[in-house]
Amino acid sequence: KKRIGIMTSGGDAPGMNGAVRAVVRTTIAMGCESYGIYEGYEGLVQGGDMIKQMFWEDVRGWLSEGGTLIGTARCMSFMQRPGRLQAAKNMITRGIDALIICGGDGSLTGADKFRDEWPSLVAELVERKELTAEQVEPFKHLNIVGLVGSIDNDMSSTDATIGCYSSLQRICQAVDFIDATAFSHQRAFVIEVMGRHCGWLALMAGVSTGADFVFLPEKPPAENWEEDMCMIVKKHRELGKRKTIVIVAEGAHDLELQKISPTKVKDLLSKKLGLDTRITTLGHVQRGGTACAYDRMLSTLQGVEAVKAVLDAKPDTPSPIIAIIENKIVRKPLLEAVKLTNEVADAIAAKDFARAMSLRDAEFAE
Ligand code: ADP
Repeated sequence: KKRIGIMTSGGDAPGMNGAVRAVVRTTIAMGCESYGIYEGYEGLVQGGDMIKQMFWEDVRGWLSEGGTLIGTARCMSFMQRPGRLQAAKNMITRGIDALIICGGDGSLTGADKFRDEWPSLVAELVERKELTAEQVEPFKHLNIVGLVGSIDNDMSSTDATIGCYSSLQRICQAVDFIDATAFSHQRAFVIEVMGRHCGWLALMAGVSTGADFVFLPEKPPAENWEEDMCMIVKKHRELGKRKTIVIVAEGAHDLELQKISPTKVKDLLSKKLGLDTRITTLGHVQRGGTACAYDRMLSTLQGVEAVKAVLDAKPDTPSPIIAIIENKIVRKPLLEAVKLTNEVADAIAAKDFARAMSLRDAEFAE
């Protein structure tokens, strides 16, 4: 019986449990055995009871659970070859030669590296007499499939990552709560949201809540942004608006060049416009909590597709990620998706915002 491992890795995201549930049950329905790997790559390196066979009823009710119930971790030892060698040994001794990983770009890059190195890891295990040639014979290839789990929606090649709509929903709810109190006191609020170097959460939160102004990592504001922002906020107030909401993406805040910080925005609003202004950093409430309906659906459909991709894989086909493009669940090359994702982050780090924007535009135009 084929044995397929499932793991969640990197930052947790709502919907990861739905993905694990779908993978476990589809694996069993296809006549294979399912193994849960606990605490991300840490479980693969440590082995033992961190790798557990999963049965149908083990994942009952998981669609409505937030976070990831099989745990996640940042694992330093998997970054080094000796850690990956141990991971390969643990997999072979448990008879697992296929892995489905739900994580961000880091986790998926690590997975592809592992797959690439696999034949040499296996050879080394035989050389060191840790395993026999007979033992490794059925494990010539490692089969990897990626599911993109991240609240940031920062992966190229897919329209949505598992978790991003739950996070957006949470941000909208939080802004609605703030709206009520802001309206009452006629206050202004500067709200910092997550997203790392991706402005999707901030932009879509701005669109969905009717914010007055938004700061994004991919698009630095014009030279005269201070006057711009004050002018727009003032205009809205003159039109009778009793509250002001400015959304700052954490990635825009981090950029030294943009010289934007929630404190600076607050000072402008209070000193130039005389508004009673407060700062709210939403923080980890954006990550926790139950998955919204969309993420439950996405994780389930993609989890099913991930198992199908494992069973379809040929030794020489490149590892796929499961994406959603224009509402269709599709497979895309993992390496290409990671490369495109890194290109945007690199362009922002190099302060080449025109390139960052054109890469994002190209994604939408695809
Ligand atoms: P995310 O998957 O959310 O982007 P990280 O970048 O922290 O999160 O990656 C999660 C884990 O994946 C790391 O702790 C490490 O174990 C593994 N990993 C990430 N990048 C690599 C890499 N280049 N080689 C091997 N393992 C990696």
